[in-house]
Amino acid sequence: MSTFLPPLFPSYQAACELCREAGGALVFQSASWRVIRAADASFPAFYRVVWRAHVSEWSDLSLAEQAVLMGVVGAVERVLRDALAPTKINLASLGNVVAHLHWHVIARFDWDSHFPAPVWAGAAREVAPPAVERLAIGLDELDARVARAVGALAPGG
Ligand SMILES: [Zn+2]
Repeated sequence: MSTFLPPLFPSYQAACELCREAGGALVFQSASWRVIRAADASFPAFYRVVWRAHVSEWSDLSLAEQAVLMGVVGAVERVLRDALAPTKINLASLGNVVAHLHWHVIARFDWDSHFPAPVWAGAAREVAPPAVERLAIGLDELDARVARAVGALAPGG
C-alpha cells in the first residue's frame, strides 16, 4: 500500500478533509489522482477516485483531465466486475459533505444491506455473515488488483 503524500497544490485547503488526508486506505496515488478504499463494513468493495488538487466541480477539470479521471474510474469498475461479479456497480460524484472532487465506485449486491437503494439511504436489511466475508476474494487481493489496473494508467507508475 502506498503512503499518502499531502498535496503540494496551490489549491490546498487546510479545512478540506480530502486535501489533508488520504480519506481511506490508500490503494494507489499518481501525480494528479489517487484511489482509496473506504472503510465501510456494509460496503467493503467501496472505492473512491480522488482528484488530488482541490477542485469542487467536474467542470473545473479540462476535458483531458476528465478523460484521465474517467479512465481511472473505469479501471476500478472493471476490476470490481471481474473479481466480484457484483449485481451492479454504482458510480456517483456528490461532494455535498466534502466538496473536493471525487468519484465513488461501489460494488453492489442484491444481498447487501441497502440494495436496491443507494448506499446513502437507510438500510433495508441486516446482513449475516458480514459483507466482507461474502466477497469472492479478500480485500488485500482486491486492493492489489485495483492498484495494478490503475497503476497502468499512471505515467511513470
Ligand atoms: Zn480539498
